[in-house]
Amino acid sequence: MRSGAPEGMGMTERRTIPFLRPAPPELSALVDELRAIESCGRYSNFGPVNARLESAVVEELLGGIGHCLAVANATLGLMLALRREARPAQGRRFALMASFGFAATPQAALWAGLTPLFVDIDRQTWNIDAHAEDALIERYGEEIACLVPTTTFGNAIDLDRYTMLARRHGFGVVIDAAAAVGTHDERGCTFGTGSEHPVIFSAHATKPFSGHEGGLIYSADQERIEEFRTMANFGFDQRRVSSQPGLNAKLSEVSALVMLSSVAQVEPVTSHRSELFWRYQQNLQSLAFQRSVGRRQSHQFVPVLLPEGWADRRAAILQLLAERGVEARTYHSPHLAEHPFFRETGVAGDLSVTQDVADRIVSLPLANDLCAEDVDYISEALGAVMEQAA
Ligand SMILES: *Cc1c(COP(=O)(O)O)cnc(C)c1O
Repeated sequence: MRSGAPEGMGMTERRTIPFLRPAPPELSALVDELRAIESCGRYSNFGPVNARLESAVVEELLGGIGHCLAVANATLGLMLALRREARPAQGRRFALMASFGFAATPQAALWAGLTPLFVDIDRQTWNIDAHAEDALIERYGEEIACLVPTTTFGNAIDLDRYTMLARRHGFGVVIDAAAAVGTHDERGCTFGTGSEHPVIFSAHATKPFSGHEGGLIYSADQERIEEFRTMANFGFDQRRVSSQPGLNAKLSEVSALVMLSSVAQVEPVTSHRSELFWRYQQNLQSLAFQRSVGRRQSHQFVPVLLPEGWADRRAAILQLLAERGVEARTYHSPHLAEHPFFRETGVAGDLSVTQDVADRIVSLPLANDLCAEDVDYISEALGAVMEQAA
């Protein structure tokens, strides 16, 4: 993996380290397979490359357990899953999700006719806080159609808890695991392995499992996956008439090829990123990091918390970092309940931890071609600008 700073470059000439650097498989290395798609003449509609992708994902990433459907992106996967899983709870209106998350989740819920109900996160793991979730279930239980926990920044979540809640209350459950390809649960299995509840993964270019656009719906329940396949194709049954809700979520063969080539990269990419993450933690021991839940977390970037009381200094710190050639971000700030559209369309419980974490978060760069020296440079730059801003 290449260094972000070519040898011999002095600090002043150092080029900017971008926040993320998408690294999907090179198209130029796939010319033979692209020709094969052309001569086959199947460009979409569950063609042979889609089929190869789906079996490679199950065999190579999920231990041969369960089934998956490749879709054009994770947001469409969430829309289909929410539409289906909320159905048995007809008349109920809420989709419960963390406010510390990405806009795709509440947008998908709204497209599925549901109202986002925003819950607080745990101060350490930044996943949904179980007590806060229980409190909202207590208050809105009869009105909740679906629980939509997210693997925050790729962090594993306790799926048994959601199976239990689904049984006890009749909720649907959809897992937004968009950034969690490569994450291992507490058993050491790929996150989601064996889950009946649909688990949605993304292969967007900026994710560690990097395609161009693309997503996966995974479930151990084959019938569910076949139903999603129908829904992803306009809800058509064998007679090509719509027999249920649907839309077009099909993945093109070329995009499937790119994703397929990315499957073999999951191990090296995840472990390289883990090493860099670990180095950030060693370098920045005075800052708070997210507490990892499973055996391994897939890392898209590196979020850290500024010290308490530093929220007001964050903008200055980002500006000073940029001047030193480090591009940082503030994911997920503003949190979802702060977005104008979701303030208007959603309902929120107490979000005090979310607010505190969101206000102090800084997301640092990570990429496949970043090296340990880059991480040291970024860490030193952050230390220096924090002293400047103190
Ligand atoms: C990236 C992401 C999505 C959206 O995935 P797309 O494939 O771009 O639609 C949804 N949820 C989370 C948590 C994400 O990180």
